[in-house]
Amino acid sequence: MDKDRFPDSPRRNDPKCDACLIGQYNACKYLALTGLGFQHGGLAEYMVTPERKLIKYDATIIPPDVAAVIQPIAVSWHATQVGHVEPGHSVLITGGGPIGLTTMFALKGHRAGKIVVSEPAANRRKLAASFGAEVFDPTGKSLEECIAELRKMSPKGAGFDRAFDCSGLPVTLRTGVGSLAVRGVFTNVAIWAKNHVEAKPMDITLSEKYVTGSICFVKSDFEQCVRAFEKGLIPIDQVKRIITSKVHLRDGVEKGLKHLIDDKQKEIKILFSAFDELID
Ligand SMILES: [Zn+2]
Repeated sequence: MDKDRFPDSPRRNDPKCDACLIGQYNACKYLALTGLGFQHGGLAEYMVTPERKLIKYDATIIPPDVAAVIQPIAVSWHATQVGHVEPGHSVLITGGGPIGLTTMFALKGHRAGKIVVSEPAANRRKLAASFGAEVFDPTGKSLEECIAELRKMSPKGAGFDRAFDCSGLPVTLRTGVGSLAVRGVFTNVAIWAKNHVEAKPMDITLSEKYVTGSICFVKSDFEQCVRAFEKGLIPIDQVKRIITSKVHLRDGVEKGLKHLIDDKQKEIKILFSAFDELID
């Protein structure tokens, strides 16, 4: 990696795709990323990428390990753009896993107000709380109980301005929509394993709520995310804590990929490097 520039994820922009025709290449129907259905991946000492895809950043502020995890935060940054987050907004995040945590960072970059994270796993709640969220344990509670209790945690008890689903379960979608304020915006960030959910359109209509979803990111999301780091809006010490392991490329399969499969509750982000000096 160049010491002060790094690539966003290159894509194959297909001119026959409706999304790419209007410049929304994040929603490309042929969406492919470096290492995912496109060209060779990033697990190499060096890689070639077009200069137009590079984003310059201040290496005196952003260390290389933090720079390496800006990509997942940029995915969440795009979601906060799609969800029209404004400074001071109260936000509910359902799911305190890696996507929920990167969404917290993107929200900090937007100067959001109160953030509540609903998450059943105690270790994940603890981490989200240490990053400044108020946390909620939905374990053993009905959908109606979750919505009632979460609404009480929102400002004035009137519901949240924004909700982000970072779990991808029917119950988290319905909890998110149900906990919104009038005219609140629900944004799905999760990749759903199941495709269907029972929904009542009047739950949306009677409170004029908005329901949308967010996929991947565009270059401006990545650039704005970098600038938010440089302005100190996203705490670098907190982001470092989602990097749970650093592994040399030569140990990548055993200490990286297999370890992540076997112990995914413990690991959040594992970094791979070809350089010994970047592994501490
Ligand atoms: Zn396309």
